[in-house]
Amino acid sequence: AYNFNAGPAALPLPVLERAQSEFVDFRNSGMSIMEMSHRGAIYESVHNEAQERLLGLLGNPAGYKVLFLQGGATTQFAMVPMNFLKEGQVGSYVMTGSWADKAYKEAKLLGGAHVAASSEEQKFRAIPDLNAIVPAENAAYLHITSNETIEGTQYFKFPDSGKLPLIADMSSDILSHDLDINQFGLIYAGAQKNLGPSGVTVVIAKEELLAESPSHIPTIMRYSTHYKNNSLYNTPPSFSVYMVNEVLKWVEEQGGLAGVEAKNREKAGLLYQTIDGSGGFYRGVAEEASRSIMNVTFRMESEELEKKFIKGAEAEGFVGLKGHRSVGGLRASIYNAVPYESCKALADYMTHFQKTQA
Ligand code: PLP
Repeated sequence: AYNFNAGPAALPLPVLERAQSEFVDFRNSGMSIMEMSHRGAIYESVHNEAQERLLGLLGNPAGYKVLFLQGGATTQFAMVPMNFLKEGQVGSYVMTGSWADKAYKEAKLLGGAHVAASSEEQKFRAIPDLNAIVPAENAAYLHITSNETIEGTQYFKFPDSGKLPLIADMSSDILSHDLDINQFGLIYAGAQKNLGPSGVTVVIAKEELLAESPSHIPTIMRYSTHYKNNSLYNTPPSFSVYMVNEVLKWVEEQGGLAGVEAKNREKAGLLYQTIDGSGGFYRGVAEEASRSIMNVTFRMESEELEKKFIKGAEAEGFVGLKGHRSVGGLRASIYNAVPYESCKALADYMTHFQKTQA
């Protein structure tokens, strides 16, 4: 299948094949990794290896720790304010679309939330001007959504949050391009787009933010619990962590972040070129400077035509091209594991479909 699903999304084929070959008997143990104790030496080595690889791909930044949690990025929407908001403080949020809004609403429930900037007036078709982002005076952190999966917008530079920790939901673009993580206090991502299967949520943060958490919040919701226990406080999603480790090996083989970025730019470039070169038959949703290299969103003249496009595409083996139910239209999610060939096939289909409508 040409898999353009938004998440869970395509995984690299060599990773799936490797997992298949190791599925029943992992490292000559006579057991599947899924059947092993998470306190045993074999699982722990995989767990630690995955953390090290992730930091390695990010250039081994000093003073950062990787956590493997559960509950998806949605749980992080709550954990961030629960852990960081002190009495009288708010979280400052940059409103860029559907996911930023969900994160903001959780902070509102759990202490207080403030809008540091918003692109709502532009119907979320762009990332706000970085200079227009102003955190509240009583902000505990500044929160951004580095890639809006539904609207198809992405940051390529990040706001300067001054002394405040910059926190980012990177669920849909983590490891898609080169990144200086030192700009961030904490980043989080559900694994199911660029990192592996669903079930594990990755948090990478400055250790000083993880070491102490408020004692009035549930133990499992404290970053400090997971930090102090190397993410083994309770049973981790061990199979998902194993898969993340395999995906990270694959990312290394692609030339690390610079390597995947070059490929992702080529893939996205081809699709946007096809859209822009269609004389208005296809219309990009996001403004050019904010166009995501992960989620390419576009529309056609009418919903009928879009339906026809999708129906024809499905018959040719294209999966997942329907836009999110909240916004409609079309969306091709082209995460790291989607090969250039799939994008080429889609671009060819788009050109062909346009001709058949002439
Ligand atoms: N944030 C972004 C940017 C997303 O794309 C998604 C899921 O698509 C989420 C958060 C929610 O993640 P989860 O389903 O892991 O809770």
